[in-house]
Amino acid sequence: MSAECLGCGAPLAAPFLDLGMMPLANSYLRPEQVDEVEERFALAVAYCPGCHLVQLTRRLAPARLFTEYAYFSSYSESFVAHPRWLAESLIARFGLGSHSRVLEIASNDGYLLKNFVERGVPVLGVEPAQNVAEEAERRGIPTLKRFFGAQVVEEILDGFGRADVVIGNNVLGHVPEINDFLRAVKQCLKPSGAAVFEFPYIRDLVERVEFDTIYHEHVFYFSLAAVKRLAERAGLELFDVIPQPVHGGSLRVFMGMPGARRVEPSVAATLAAEEQAGFTAAARYAAFERAVRKVRDDLVALLRALKAKGARVAAYGAPAKGNTLLNYCGIGRELIEFTVDRSPHKQGTLLPGSRIPVREPSALLAKRPDYALILAWNWAEEIIAQQREYLERGGTFIIPVPGPRLVGGDGPGRAALTR
Ligand SMILES: [Zn+2]
Repeated sequence: MSAECLGCGAPLAAPFLDLGMMPLANSYLRPEQVDEVEERFALAVAYCPGCHLVQLTRRLAPARLFTEYAYFSSYSESFVAHPRWLAESLIARFGLGSHSRVLEIASNDGYLLKNFVERGVPVLGVEPAQNVAEEAERRGIPTLKRFFGAQVVEEILDGFGRADVVIGNNVLGHVPEINDFLRAVKQCLKPSGAAVFEFPYIRDLVERVEFDTIYHEHVFYFSLAAVKRLAERAGLELFDVIPQPVHGGSLRVFMGMPGARRVEPSVAATLAAEEQAGFTAAARYAAFERAVRKVRDDLVALLRALKAKGARVAAYGAPAKGNTLLNYCGIGRELIEFTVDRSPHKQGTLLPGSRIPVREPSALLAKRPDYALILAWNWAEEIIAQQREYLERGGTFIIPVPGPRLVGGDGPGRAALTR
């Protein structure tokens, strides 16, 4: 079965990376489900030479992926600081105040919108995950408990009005009906309005071998070239792009009505740079698969060598991407005893596929594993800073991408590292 590109409709090329059959990355198991067979789905990505859009070859219905969404973003400290800064910069750039309207798509528990509310800017969130939306409302963030799309535009325009700013952080990549979605965004914008999207940048993903950020919920992996074509197809114009250090390297893009705003030089500069680096041709993506296999082989070899020396290994974090990493590498409880995570929603569960148990962060000091593989590597700096005591007591962290690297400790495992 050859799929069609969800952007331009052209037949999709063969996948450049096939990660195999994977359980859903956010389907954490309760202990009583340990004997249940997990459903697995093909996980492979292809590049469309017609519109440069990188996408999954098999997509699942959003309702299946998101209604029991276990992810509350406020549990990570950096994640809370970044949105505050984003809110302030948007308020300043677009002169937002009590007369303005800010609409956020996939507003989660309101961690971003609360910064606008505190500054007196009227907001509306749209969030399909019921438990998460209810948490937002408890915090005083008006939230529509729906998937954003053509079906909610009228409700938004009637009840809230057109927005000065529409924000979608890490949402574009989740929406298979991307053209309809962007057309609906346009309908919600004032003529002078701006749509602001952040998404992990494929150039960073490929260059830093962040293949674990590929999972079923992420349908798309964007270059700016692909986003520009998507915007144009929806009748929007890309007018600015700013790189962001979050999520392993992201882009923040600004779209508006054609001609409404000056197009910043950053747009042409970023497009030229990514074309020169090969991201608008199939060959660059084909080379990525070799790099991914090397990360897998090096990581598994390291963990096996540590195990052979009698070392005890745990992990830090239970992010969705950790599940891609562990399951693609075939790493389970025979190599990793347990992982720890700050989210109480994940503590006490088992990771999908690998069945590694998730404990509280205090388990790291209580159980004292010799090594801890950082699955949430995008927070590695924060985690290492918070876990000084683990390091001081001789623990060593392993950062998996772009190739396994040891931090802290002088244990026997250092020699096992092959690079
Ligand atoms: Zn296409």
